[in-house]
This record gives sequence, structure tokens and C-alpha cells, in this order.
Amino acid sequence: MPTSINPATGEIIEEYAEHSDADIDRAIANADLCYRDWRTSNLDDRSALLNRIADQLETRKEELAGIATQEMGKRLKEAVAEVEKCAMACRYYAEHGPAMIANEDRPGGPASENFVAYLPIGPILAIMPWNFPYWQCLRFAAPAIMAGNVGLLKHASNVSRCALEIERVILDAGGPQGLFQTMLVSSKKVDGILKDPRIRAATLTGSEGAGSAVAATSGHEIKTTVLELGGSDPFIVMPSADIDKAIEVGITARMQNNGQSCIAAKRFIVHEDVYDRYLEGYKAKVEAMKLGDPMETGTDMGPLAQKQGVEDLKSQVEQSVAAGAKLVTGGKAPEGPGFFFQPSIIAEVPENAPAYRDELFGPCAIMFKVGSIDAAIELANDSDFGLGGSVFTRDKAEQERFIRDLDTGGTHINRMTASHPALPFGGVKRSGYGRELSHEGIRAFMNAKTVTRD
Ligand code: NDP
Repeated sequence: MPTSINPATGEIIEEYAEHSDADIDRAIANADLCYRDWRTSNLDDRSALLNRIADQLETRKEELAGIATQEMGKRLKEAVAEVEKCAMACRYYAEHGPAMIANEDRPGGPASENFVAYLPIGPILAIMPWNFPYWQCLRFAAPAIMAGNVGLLKHASNVSRCALEIERVILDAGGPQGLFQTMLVSSKKVDGILKDPRIRAATLTGSEGAGSAVAATSGHEIKTTVLELGGSDPFIVMPSADIDKAIEVGITARMQNNGQSCIAAKRFIVHEDVYDRYLEGYKAKVEAMKLGDPMETGTDMGPLAQKQGVEDLKSQVEQSVAAGAKLVTGGKAPEGPGFFFQPSIIAEVPENAPAYRDELFGPCAIMFKVGSIDAAIELANDSDFGLGGSVFTRDKAEQERFIRDLDTGGTHINRMTASHPALPFGGVKRSGYGRELSHEGIRAFMNAKTVTRD
């Protein structure tokens, strides 16, 4: 049964009845019916709807943010910013979407006219995680709506209220019945839904296990998938960097969202010439962070979303220390109610420690010292993941090396990794495949139809 628990207190907020097989079938039928009209809707109408969704999100942002904070523990301020980002993405696609999916001439083709027509494909299943409970969904829904597709959401079982609110926002904005529906179902039901011939594609953000299961079924059914999975992003600091800025940004990049972001900076790879200064400055800031109620403005770090998250992180830190890593600060789950974990740093992590290779999905920075750019790149790439990554250096030649040699879906120079609707988002290696956002994201679920005309 999908259950919402307040991670700041450990208390149950609400339990939801799971949708039945008949409910699921009805939702898919609604989606299929809606798609028949929506696919031919005019682009101005799609833009107008996206702008109205943005209006709804902006009007209700405090209330929506409060729901997310209650269900998954992110700080209220960050939850408000998340809802605002969703509105921004809707406005972005309302304005730029039509040009992204306009017919594209292909000069040099065999006919008098040669072009690609971008057409929608149908109902898409979106399987989403709890960490950015609105953004993960809207960054899928905004381009899908502009493309002429329709969406069915299977959200994480701990954020059902957020999931229902997204559906309501779209309906209240005037979205047609069936355009975007939430199904409150367990992950066990996903396989059957994916096999339904009316579902044409799937997008999943979450763990490798979930991604692999969805990709296997989709592969068997010959359906397109986009997978956005875990990451253990490097954050590289070279001697020419603005160190104070690299500390400030490095704290946000690791600790925001209570440390639970796929694109969080997880492995800090710092040149030996600036390592001691960097670690000292970083440690001072970590130790000054106030752990507490995510609804309060003075709080720097709220709880993790789930009890299991605390247990996993605690065990990864303890095992890493047992393997020889040095605990610089933090490392404990405080006694008392709620799913809290101290903001932490570990260093001198040996290769056999979990922190060297696994993703740490919580507020713990891992510090590495390297002697050269070659060593920094080698260490950064010594990971099964390849999502994003940041590099702090003012040296142009070094910047070009990192752009060329880091095996990741994004390299961000003198900035933290963050998604934006103007730019594609996704990873390589076990971080997944395909891209969300921008041209690549909207076209991921479109039929690029070849047209020749004499
Ligand atoms: P999951 O992958 O378990 O959950 C993500 C979504 O997938 C949820 O909707 C979940 O539903 C669903 N799901 C889970 N298993 C399956 C399956 N076999 N088939 C179909 N759908 C499935 O992530 P967790 O919340 O358990 O987090 C575990 C790890 O996932 C984290 O440590 C992190 O590595 C990664 N993660 C990555 C995120 C990212 O942004 N890339 C975000 C969150 C997690 P249900 O909730 O009902 O199980």
C-alpha cells in the first residue's frame, strides 16, 4: 500500500489504496483516447496549456512545496525553488517547443523536398523517484505535452500526494482528461503496464535495478526507453581554481536536497597543491551546518527521505572506515525520531571501500587527493557511472582536456552540475542512456518521420 511518512518525525501522514487492475486499464484507455485528439492539437493550444500549468504551479507553489517537504523531507525553501523550476520548464517549452519539433529540411536528399517531420508516438509511462517529486515529473511532462504525447505516471510509493497533485494541477490548468494521469501502483505492476500495446514508450529515473527491469521488458516489447539512473559525479579542483568559490559551490553541490540527488557532487578530486586548504574550508562549512526540521528557515540539512536511506548510508560509511578510510567529520545518525544523518566527510578512501565505487545517496562528501590532471581524469573515470561532473580550473588547456576526456553526460566548468530545459540531460555507462530536456529530450519520444516529395 503506498504510504507517505514524514521523514522528519517518522510518523505516517497518509496511506493510499492501490489502484486496481480495472483502474489501471481505465487509465490506459483514457490515455489512448486522449492521445487520438491531442496528437492533432494545434501547437499554440499546447503552448497555452503549458503556460496555464506554469500559472497553476506558481499560484500554488507554497502549498505544493509544503506537501513535498512533508512527504520526502527536503527543505521548504528548496521545495519552493523546485516548483518554480517546474513552472520555468513549462514556460520554456511553451516558447521554444514549437521550433524544436518543426519540420527540418535535409539538404542534399534525393527528392525535390527532403525533410524530417517530428510526430508524437502515443501514451508514455513515466516511472519516477521521490527525490525531486515535482521536477522529475514535469521535466518529462512539459516536453511530452508539447510533443503531442500523453503521460501516465507511476511515482515512487512514498510521494503519492505529490503525484496526485501534479495530475490535479494539469487538470485545473485545462488539460484534457487522460492527458496526464497518476496511477497509484506498486512497482510489481509496472511490467504488465509496459506490456500493454497501448503504451508506446517508457522513461525511468531511479536505481539501476529498476532501470534494468524496465529496459528488459521494454526491449522484449520493442519499446523506446530513456533511463536516468544513479551517479557518483566527480567534482575536480585544480590549483588555478577560485578555491573559495569551489568550496561554496562544492557544499551546495553535495548537500542540497539533503544530499539525495543523482547529479550531486559525490567524489571530490582535489589537486595536492590546494588539497589541505580545500578540505579545511570545506570541513568548516560542513561542521557549521544545522541539522533539523526542513520546514524551518534556519535549517541547513533536513532528514533523508526514508529510514532505509539512513541505514544504507550509515553502513557504507562504516564499512569504508573499516576498510581504511578516514572519517573527517560526521558519520553518525543522531538518536531520536526522524531519518537524520549528520553532514559528513570521508577521505583517504581505499579502492576496496564501498565509498570508492558505490553511490552515496546522502550528505557525505568523499575527498581524494591527486598529483596531476592525468590522475584526476583517471580517478574520475574509474567509476561505473558517468552522469555529470564539475571541474574548477581557470586554465583553458585543462578545461579542454576535461571536456574531451571525462566520460560523463555533462561537464560543468567552474559551476555545479544542474539541469536546465535548454540543455540535454542524461548519462553514459551505468548512469543510463537517452537524454531528457532540450531538443534531444523532446525528440526522444517522437517519430522522426522521413519525408521526400517531388
Ligand atoms: P527506485 O529505483 O527503487 O525507485 C524509483 C522508481 O522506480 C519508483 O517509482 C519505484 O517504485 C520504481 N521501481 C522500483 N523498482 C522497480 C522495478 N523493478 N520495476 C519498475 N519500477 C520500479 O529508487 P529508490 O527510491 O529505492 O532509491 C534507490 C537508489 O536509486 C538510490 O540509492 C539512488 O542510487 C537511486 N536513485 C536515483 C535517483 C535519480 O535521480 N537518478 C533518484 C532516486 C533514487 P516504488 O517506489 O513503488 O518502489
